[in-house]
Amino acid sequence: MGVIRLMDEPLSNKIAAGEVVERPTSVVKELVENAIDAGSTAIEVLLIEAGLTSIQIVDNGAGMDTEDALLSFSRHATSKISNEHDLFRIRTLGFRGEALASIASVSKVTLHTSNGESGTFVQLEGGRLIEHRAGSLRKGTDIKIDQLFFNTPARLKYLKTLQTELGHSIDLMNRLALSYPSISFKLVHDGKTILQTSGSGEIKRVISDIYGVSIAKKMIPFEAESHDYKVSGFTSLPEVTRANKNYISLFVNGRWVKHYAIANTVHRAYHTFLPLERQPITILNIEGDPYLTDVNVHPAKQQIRLSKEKELMELIHDTIRQTISSAVRAPIIEKPKAPKQVPSRQLDIWKTSYTVKEPVEQQTAGSFAESLHALENHPSIAGGNIHPVLKEEPQSVGQFEETIKEEIMQETVNFSINEPLEDDSPQFPELEVVGQIHGTYIVAQSTDGFYLIDQHAAQERIKYEFFREKVGEIDVSERQALLLPLTFHYSRDEAMRLKDALGVLAESGVFLEEFGDTSFIVREHPTWFPAGFEQEIVEDLIEQVLNDRKIDVKKLREDAAIMMSCKRSIKANHYLQKHEMERLLADLKQAEQPFTCPHGRPVIIHFKTYDVEKMFKRVM
Ligand code: ADP
Ligand code: MG
Repeated sequence: MGVIRLMDEPLSNKIAAGEVVERPTSVVKELVENAIDAGSTAIEVLLIEAGLTSIQIVDNGAGMDTEDALLSFSRHATSKISNEHDLFRIRTLGFRGEALASIASVSKVTLHTSNGESGTFVQLEGGRLIEHRAGSLRKGTDIKIDQLFFNTPARLKYLKTLQTELGHSIDLMNRLALSYPSISFKLVHDGKTILQTSGSGEIKRVISDIYGVSIAKKMIPFEAESHDYKVSGFTSLPEVTRANKNYISLFVNGRWVKHYAIANTVHRAYHTFLPLERQPITILNIEGDPYLTDVNVHPAKQQIRLSKEKELMELIHDTIRQTISSAVRAPIIEKPKAPKQVPSRQLDIWKTSYTVKEPVEQQTAGSFAESLHALENHPSIAGGNIHPVLKEEPQSVGQFEETIKEEIMQETVNFSINEPLEDDSPQFPELEVVGQIHGTYIVAQSTDGFYLIDQHAAQERIKYEFFREKVGEIDVSERQALLLPLTFHYSRDEAMRLKDALGVLAESGVFLEEFGDTSFIVREHPTWFPAGFEQEIVEDLIEQVLNDRKIDVKKLREDAAIMMSCKRSIKANHYLQKHEMERLLADLKQAEQPFTCPHGRPVIIHFKTYDVEKMFKRVM
């Protein structure tokens, strides 16, 4: 006799719940997405104990009639698709028809819903119908999930602390708010409002609600189209950076997705604008025909498969790079503000879910020393270059660093709603040299304040642009023979790989010739090679080729330009004559991108006159 049996529906729902309902946030996601699909303009999420005690979602969408309200909890019940054809033209967030069934199978559900004509109340427990009757006629849906995982204790065990679980839901709500600026979202935890957006339709407003007005001011809009895709959104000026890619929010046709390659492309667009290990804040909306964006990859629908990926990546890269290239400017040092008091409960949440420390009240808000601390800890100069003599009160530096380190608190608490969101346009200022400090920084002034310029970073930028052009097109007439050829020896397998790469190396200025089985020589080099560093540069570039599995001329040339620009640039502790400083600033002004060095560190920092006056309390 056969041993295979068909499962009953409650059992198969519970199994599906294993994939769809991983944690309270998954429930919030599915239910809010249903509310969005129902055309709601206001959605409220109320959590008790991070959602483990209860999750309630109240919307003002289309609602359901009684028949649908009962049917909606069956597996494979959906109003969103009806045939295979629809699967390739999905415009709604849901379509699998399994979320409500799965959620209901592992919790206790109460639902009030009305389409305006009939009102229905439904109650279920572990997926089984307990009661249903007529209910209120308020149009919309109010669904409450109590005691999630009450009948699957194993799931409960895998949950992290309440703070971590809440952190996930806050993160989710932030992304939903960013992707639907026309919907007003409210997130309330244990009676406290954590997020509220206006639903005004302006993404910049939402960015300000989430990250604070000072960040919103530094977000630049972009929009572009290719044959198949349209991209739009906001991306941060290079002076705003983050330690990880969590602040790159990707939306495909309104759906928040995680896509490693796209996030990487966004990061790549900032090459030489940001230190390698830092990341931008980006809100990227991608729109394309649904048949190009397969969302039916995973039950949670956060992964997607994209067609014409190369075209899309190019569009994203070029658009973002152009946007920041034309918007970049010298970071402005603003007078730090005393953090606003935040209810202590909320602080606990942030502290744990993002491991940030509680902000330290600034006793002497607005002192110059603080501004220096701010400068030193400025995200784009983290690990800063300020000479120790300029520092005061070493303990408070540490404290201040703590408050600013993960930057999240700073932003969350530091905005006042009335500040305008627009800021000055970028332009390299007309600078007059005042002097030099510590043989390292040039001090210059302009009509709008004073500037500190890192002389080493400035020269690196100038040289990098020079070498990038040279390496990009190597002129045969610009070759110079060496009196004594340089020789290089490698192991047998390295030598074999090098032989394959001779062409790529030559296109980057390294004219390597075979000399026996495992040796190579260089007889000549481009005239513009930094003198005295020939051997070192050739070795470094060979190293690069040997380390890189895939050798790419473009990348090698880029590496070569950066490498050469570092050699022989004026270092710190080198005193310059006034005319040398003037020359350097004039060259910098000519640079295509004067504001960051090729490693993405800032070259020039702006102290606005008004802010300096505020620091000295000349203006209040
Ligand atoms: P899916 O969203 O994939 O269709 P769900 O199980 O999430 O599947 O929901 C089943 C159906 O219930 C939906 O297709 C929709 O018709 C209805 N529904 C669920 N939530 C709401 C809501 N908040 N407002 C109106 N209808 C809803
Ligand atoms: Mg759904």
